[in-house]
Amino acid sequence: MDRELLRWALDAQKNSYAPYSQKHIGAAMLMDNGRIYNGCNVENASYGGTVCAERVAIFKAISEGAKKIKEVLVVSSEQNPWPPCGFCRQVMAEFIDSPEVKIHLCNPQGHGRQLTFGELFPDSFGPEHLKKT
Ligand code: ZN
Repeated sequence: MDRELLRWALDAQKNSYAPYSQKHIGAAMLMDNGRIYNGCNVENASYGGTVCAERVAIFKAISEGAKKIKEVLVVSSEQNPWPPCGFCRQVMAEFIDSPEVKIHLCNPQGHGRQLTFGELFPDSFGPEHLKKT
């Protein structure tokens, strides 16, 4: 599956809008409905308006009815792949299927590392903390 996720992430990375950082990122998420959703980073002259590739992919998936993230792949233009930022980790925590979900961090050649969401974002704050008892 990660080869297919890489293909989807690379497809999205081609559309990266990064005139300020020149850093082109693509993300792909396998969701619980069996579909893959991708996204790229979209920067803005008002920097706070910038959205990372991971959140673009998640918001596309959720807006189309998917509920849970089953696997993630992020490709960056760096040889040493970049991990998701803290903001994206928090948004992933909202929709992650379990702490065992695989997160693949890749360079454009598809090389990099794999970790679980629990390793990426241990002791995360999530929806379970706000459940009424
Ligand atoms: Zn981010």
